[in-house]
Amino acid sequence: MQTGVNKSNLSTSPAARAETVLHRLRRRYPRVRSQLTWNSPWELLVSTILAAQCTDTRVNAVTPRFFSRWPTIADLAQAEQSEVEEIIRSTGLYRNKTKNLIQSARKLVENYDAQVPSTMQDLLTLPGVARKTANIVLSHGFGRHEGIAVDTHVKRVSYRLGLTRSKDPGKIEHDLMPLFPRPAWGEINHLLVWFGREVCQARSPKCSQCILTDICPREGVVG
Ligand code: SF4
Repeated sequence: MQTGVNKSNLSTSPAARAETVLHRLRRRYPRVRSQLTWNSPWELLVSTILAAQCTDTRVNAVTPRFFSRWPTIADLAQAEQSEVEEIIRSTGLYRNKTKNLIQSARKLVENYDAQVPSTMQDLLTLPGVARKTANIVLSHGFGRHEGIAVDTHVKRVSYRLGLTRSKDPGKIEHDLMPLFPRPAWGEINHLLVWFGREVCQARSPKCSQCILTDICPREGVVG
């Protein structure tokens, strides 16, 4: 645990703490963006589905071949399960991911004119798409902020910083939304993910190098 840090800011409200978090993380990561490579909402949707329990680097290694083989949603709707499985195998969970991708493509062709819809309600009708994925596609693909994507990093960092008392992603999102300005909902996801990867890591948080030590109730505590 770092010593000599002024902990008087710990008594501030979650809203005040959230303001400090946003301000400091923006300074630390001024050009924050997704590490996934994509060029359209469809590519973002596919990459986000593939990124479940997989690194962004691994996904980026797979998607060029994927989009070269199936350039459009309509192409993927007609793909063979076995061929898709072979191409995405290294991302893990490949049987489920393949099923969800092909079924999503078919649904998009049948119901959405082979376009990715831009509402939460419509996105949630796609197989394999829950709120986290839908929030990422809406925020980063369409610039629409209907919620905050809560992944493993957002979940852990929010909890440690006392922005939520829950470990349930749905409740965490509900707690975070009023704490951050709506236009920043996509950005705060990126900021917490980057910060969680680099500093507030799961097993060994780098508290001695952390710019949020003075406001963190769980400095030096893993969990
Ligand atoms: Fe995470 Fe430690 Fe920083 Fe708290 S002080 S946010 S636990 S790295």
